[in-house]
Amino acid sequence: EPVNLYELVSNSVAFYQETTDLHELFIDVDIEQNFVIDADLEGMRQLFGNLLSNAIKYSPDGGNILVSLERIDEEVVIKVKDHGMGIPTASLPHLFGKFYRVDNSDRRKIGGTGLGLAICKEIAKAHDGQLHVESVYGEGSTFICELPASKEHIMQ
Ligand code: ATP
Ligand code: MG
Repeated sequence: EPVNLYELVSNSVAFYQETTDLHELFIDVDIEQNFVIDADLEGMRQLFGNLLSNAIKYSPDGGNILVSLERIDEEVVIKVKDHGMGIPTASLPHLFGKFYRVDNSDRRKIGGTGLGLAICKEIAKAHDGQLHVESVYGEGSTFICELPASKEHIMQ
């Protein structure tokens, strides 16, 4: 179904901004405001929702969160960047596995099932897309989702 990515991401950002006093969420967009891809709406909502809620949850001391949307050739690239706890290098290869949680003392009190990112990865794959992460422990993380833009059709 046609999904307006700009609208979806800005609605998601507005929703999560309401849930936090600690963080300021920014959005940086270089696509047209009527940029549409062929996707599953609920899946896309879940994907961005999980990434944004993680960004908030794993930056307990606050800090800006930046969401960017960029069209690069045949792909649309969505990034969610936080300035939170970051991810230990040793955990990176396991991060998208089912029920995997980073077991470090800094986050033992933060609850979760370890399913969020596994679901995100499945959704990205189901859309012929990819999801990966760049992170520096103690500094922050950027989750990068690439989705094909080739099936895009601009709605009038
Ligand atoms: P839930 O199923 O409720 O999402 P979860 O947040 O623990 O539980 P995932 O979203 O799959 O599970 O994340 C897996 C692990 O990756 C988390 O336990 C957390 O340690 C780490 N992680 C995820 N996102 C971030 C982030 N933005 N910054 C730092 N660590 C993160
Ligand atoms: Mg999560």
